[in-house]
Amino acid sequence: MKAARLHMLGQPLEVEETPQPEPLAGEVLICVEACGVCHSDLHMALGDWPDVAARMAMPAILGHEVAGRIVEMGAGVTGFELGQRVGVGWLHSTCGQCEFCRSDAENICLERTVTGIAAPGGFAEFMRIRASHAIPIPENIPPEQAAPFFCAGLTVYHACRNAGIRAGQRVAVIGIGGLGHLAVQIARDAGAEVVAVDLSEPKLELARRLGAAETVDARSSEAAKLLKKGGRPHVAVVTAGSKPAYDLALRILRRRGTLAVVGLPKEDVTFNADNFVVGEYHIVGAAVGTRQETRELLNLVATGRLHCEVETHPLEAINDVFARMQRGEILGRAVVIPK
Ligand code: NAD
Ligand code: ZN
Ligand code: ZN
Repeated sequence: MKAARLHMLGQPLEVEETPQPEPLAGEVLICVEACGVCHSDLHMALGDWPDVAARMAMPAILGHEVAGRIVEMGAGVTGFELGQRVGVGWLHSTCGQCEFCRSDAENICLERTVTGIAAPGGFAEFMRIRASHAIPIPENIPPEQAAPFFCAGLTVYHACRNAGIRAGQRVAVIGIGGLGHLAVQIARDAGAEVVAVDLSEPKLELARRLGAAETVDARSSEAAKLLKKGGRPHVAVVTAGSKPAYDLALRILRRRGTLAVVGLPKEDVTFNADNFVVGEYHIVGAAVGTRQETRELLNLVATGRLHCEVETHPLEAINDVFARMQRGEILGRAVVIPK
């Protein structure tokens, strides 16, 4: 089969022939119809995360926003049919036993394994996935539309929930990329007034089209002032992997407000203790989401209330997609189609 493989950190992926995998017991083999390109794939390919890099089996097949159809079932798999459309995200497996798995927080399972790290991901024509972690996709959602919800959509759905976003609140979404443009819609769907922040006008225009009440260009020297003008936000969801984005969030948050930590800059995020004390802020992290949240989210997508802005490309274009992502040029989510 054809796959895009990472042989060395910081090097382009090689699109090449590799043996087609066979499903092990408890697994299904899917023919990948679409795989979203997450900025986390780019972080991993560049070696931005040394701990993750140490666990990656090279050559690695990245890609953890996958939609495809079941073409083969391993021993002992029940409850699925050949030809059924399913998807898988960041979580390749979870233990089901630890205190987090037992309390609806399997996304932070102590024994979790990750797609693209512990097992090959979706930048390939075929992929093995655990039947237990394969989520059926409603048939009315096309694969390129479904795929980005397995990481981008799920993560911000979980983050908005963790941050307790409610109707009537003002919510700043900082970073209107793959995750952020979905966060705008999810916060708005919860009844919040959304102010969207990015470094590029086309992204701010996209946010307005998706229901943001206001937009602010983070490059402006007045950005903090503009953000505060309509009232300091109750919640700031930072979906940019950028320290300046966090610095801005902490300058404009309302007292007792919540910072939702989603984007992953290489540098540490810092805060001034004095400001923090005076503001009595809350900080919540968000690590993708659970399978149950994925099912809920796909049902919401099936009703047409959420829409991912998608550009599709052949798998061969993956390095070009990475380059454009690095330059901040992708509007919404890029999705690769391996066949
Ligand atoms: P993306 O490249 O599609 O979007 C990032 C956006 O942030 C771009 O639109 C860019 O213009 C904008 N941006 C950059 N610096 C900014 C700044 N200073 N102020 C405002 N906007 C700024 O990336 P993505 O796929 O949406 O991922 C975003 C981040 O989230 C990455 O760091 C990724 O690794 C991380 N992530 C985290 C989780 C999680 O579970 N917490 C899951 C998926 C992705
Ligand atoms: Zn991701
Ligand atoms: Zn667990």
